[in-house]
Amino acid sequence: MSLPYTLLITPLPADAPDDGSWFTETFTEVEASEPALRVSELSTQRGDGVFETLSVVNGHAQEVQPHLARLARSAEICDLPAPNLAQWSAAISQAVARIPSQGELAIKLVLSRGVEHGPSPTAWLHASAASDFSPVRQSGVRAITLDRGYDRGVAERAPWLLLGAKTLSYAVNMAALREAHRRGADDTIFVTSDGYVMEGPTSSVIIRHGDVFSTPAPSGAILHGTTQRSLFNYLERHGHAVSYRDISIEELRTADAVWLVSSVRLAVAVIELDGVQMPVDAPLTELFTEYLLSPRD
Ligand code: PLP
Repeated sequence: MSLPYTLLITPLPADAPDDGSWFTETFTEVEASEPALRVSELSTQRGDGVFETLSVVNGHAQEVQPHLARLARSAEICDLPAPNLAQWSAAISQAVARIPSQGELAIKLVLSRGVEHGPSPTAWLHASAASDFSPVRQSGVRAITLDRGYDRGVAERAPWLLLGAKTLSYAVNMAALREAHRRGADDTIFVTSDGYVMEGPTSSVIIRHGDVFSTPAPSGAILHGTTQRSLFNYLERHGHAVSYRDISIEELRTADAVWLVSSVRLAVAVIELDGVQMPVDAPLTELFTEYLLSPRD
């Protein structure tokens, strides 16, 4: 079957019996040219839903369980019914069996609040060719820092901002990328109004000082990235020190290397920050890419 590949999913309760055999009855394959969603769908009307994007490399879906765990966490934060993870896992397996087994593809999982006044959530899976990140994996990116408008304590003070959930409301994130382009850069690193590093609009930030790798603590104000976690496990296995902590803008500027990491982009070096050249660790970037392209569960 060719790309894109779409499955509409009738979401089952989290505690539905898990014998697996009947999950396929809850999936409907949809032709790319066919209408699939209603106009009153709240995901499109209000961005009211959650999603995950995972990478499929040469037929292997990467880090399925961490992505599903985050989908469940996002659903919980947004008061959506808990997803049946065995059902989602079966949907991913069905998609992987139907899509090309070579190259880098992306699978997006969406769980929306459903149609307005409707009885249940809407869910679907969409597989497509991944954007080609190989040029920036080689060249790196120029990033700017942008004030996210919140201080470090925002997540505890205002949980209704849903900052720790991967919601469908990405208009702000996309605006931050356009602002980077307007300023002649490629990407953005959000910082808190009190001067601490958060994340990129579609990535986590990892910095290296000497042999210590750090990332902002997942305080609830940022997404806890599956790629960052996977890289920290890899680094720890290879004897490096890793730390979750508050990182000031000054520490970002004086880092020995900075990466933006995410599931489909993998690891991309920041070569310039706010117009100032940054040191680049090319061998480690290459090693990260190699590791992230290897089959990971
Ligand atoms: N932070 C944000 C806001 C993101 O949108 C993403 C991914 O799209 C990430 C972090 C990185 O998450 P992951 O590594 O799980 O793809």
